Amino acid sequence: MSELDALCERAVKLWGIRAQVGMMMEEAAELIVALNKYDRGEIQAPDVVEELVDTAVMVTQMRLYFDPDSRYWDAKRSEKLRRLSYRLEMEEAKK
Ligand SMILES: [Mg+2]
Repeated sequence: MSELDALCERAVKLWGIRAQVGMMMEEAAELIVALNKYDRGEIQAPDVVEELVDTAVMVTQMRLYFDPDSRYWDAKRSEKLRRLSYRLEMEEAKK
C-alpha cells in the first residue's frame, strides 16, 4: 500500500466516511471555483494544481472506502481508457 493510500485510509477511519464525503464535495466545489477563476484570469496554474491535489486526495479516500481492493476502479478505468482511446482514434482519423 502506498503512503498516500495508508494516510487516506487512516483519515476515513478517524473522521468517518460521512465527514469525508462532505470533504469530497467541498474539495470538488473548490476545484470547480478554481477552474472558473483560472478561466477568468483571476488565479494562476499553481492555484488550480492545489485544488487538483486536494480533490485527488479526497478521490483516493473515496476509492479506498467504496472499492477497497480497487477491483471495480481498475475495471472501470480500463474500460474508460479504452473508450477514450477509441474516440481519439476516430477523431484523429478525420484529420
Ligand atoms: Mg481545497
